[in-house]
Amino acid sequence: MLIRRLLPRLTTIIPVRTTNSSPDRARQTWSIVKQTKYMYCSRPESQIDTKTRLCWKCKALITSAIEFFCPSCNIIQRPLKKTTYFEIMDSPKTFDVNTVQLNDKYKELQWKLHPDKFSDVSEEEKKISEEQSSRVNEAYVTLLKPLSRGLYLLNLHGEHVTESEATSTDGEFLAAIMEKYEQISSSSEERLEEIQKENNEHLEKCIQDISDAFAQGDIQTARQEVIKLNYYNNVAEYIRNQGDWS
Ligand SMILES: [Zn+2]
Repeated sequence: MLIRRLLPRLTTIIPVRTTNSSPDRARQTWSIVKQTKYMYCSRPESQIDTKTRLCWKCKALITSAIEFFCPSCNIIQRPLKKTTYFEIMDSPKTFDVNTVQLNDKYKELQWKLHPDKFSDVSEEEKKISEEQSSRVNEAYVTLLKPLSRGLYLLNLHGEHVTESEATSTDGEFLAAIMEKYEQISSSSEERLEEIQKENNEHLEKCIQDISDAFAQGDIQTARQEVIKLNYYNNVAEYIRNQGDWS
């Protein structure tokens, strides 16, 4: 975790250093820093997030970060904030989430953790079940859709970006998107279907490009493509809402 904390400082230090060294040397250093960052972030989950703790009720040792119940007294445990959504949903930390398995896991966890299952227990256990159930909901909703999953994965890789910040500075791309909006506003129903089909193709390609970029550890490309996905999603929503807005 220390490297992660130091990285923002390193990235601010390096441009200062460039005034005293050659541009090639600076580029090389920058590239090493970026590689270190990716190497660090792509460490297996097991090395990052295995944490031990004690059961709040019986003090037995719990060795897994994603153990929802004490293996000794079977009492529900508080969620650990450091566990990732991927860990909670028992899914590999990858963009290519198996959504069928994700759905199954969600149902399984909610069946075990939902507050309705805790009506005859202490207030403390009820409260914990609400926290756990709500965290499972967050994890499920975030990992289900490609955009939120991509943004979350970027954040895990140290690229902090939210949906509202996912805006492009690519003039050509933005002009193409603007043109799409104009076409949508003035199109016949038939033409609208064609635009929707084109946009769906863009969406599919974009999702594939995000998947490839994450698989190759190319986080900057993944970031650019996730931002594009935000625009294509908005276009899709705009088309769906045309009936209401026209
Ligand atoms: Zn216990």
